Amino acid sequence: MLRSKDLLLYQKRSDRIRCGELKAEQVKEFMLSFTRDLTPIRQSVDDIEIKLWAGEQNPQKEKALEIAAEALHYFNQNLGPYPHKQLDVILGDRLSMEYPGIVTAYTSEDVKHVLVHEIAHQWFYGMVNNDAFHEGWLDEGMAELAVSLFLQDYQFSENLYKPNGVYSNLPLTEFQEGEIPSVLYAQPVLKFKELLESHGYNGMEFLRAYFSTYKYKQVDTKEFVSL
Ligand SMILES: [Zn+2]
Repeated sequence: MLRSKDLLLYQKRSDRIRCGELKAEQVKEFMLSFTRDLTPIRQSVDDIEIKLWAGEQNPQKEKALEIAAEALHYFNQNLGPYPHKQLDVILGDRLSMEYPGIVTAYTSEDVKHVLVHEIAHQWFYGMVNNDAFHEGWLDEGMAELAVSLFLQDYQFSENLYKPNGVYSNLPLTEFQEGEIPSVLYAQPVLKFKELLESHGYNGMEFLRAYFSTYKYKQVDTKEFVSL
């Protein structure tokens, strides 16, 4: 990490430092990434520019950009409008994570699945808010349900799921080692699949109604159940 003094010296020496102002509205987090080995490739979809950052030699970047464009278009059309003019995607050897307007995807994982999942978080986390520590099932479960509906495939959750009678709406500290993927991600998806199918509901219509009701609001389990 650079100390502020170091940064100042570096700025004085370099003629490549750019200055500017960054602004974001209606976001809860601001993510800043410093890289020196990544270059972007770009594609626009629905007037949104996707900038995908990856190393020059990363063999997955073209395919990843195509997947990101397809997922962003699908969610933008089916859930509700994506709120930013850009989506940045950082691909590489780092934790897969979501932030408003930017996602990171770890390329050793199933890139398609992880990328679509992090992009779905732009709706369920980015705009529909919940307490990620006490009720992580709300953003992880709904993002993962959106992924399954997009892929029309529930295999990811079916493979992760280990029925053990543990409730999904518990604080992270209540889960045993290794339980989180099944309880927080897979269980809500498979229970919702069962529920929606038994009532003949369209899953994407349900998610669209949920999104439009709780956009820029905070949801908890009690509120969700009253939906
Ligand atoms: Zn997630």
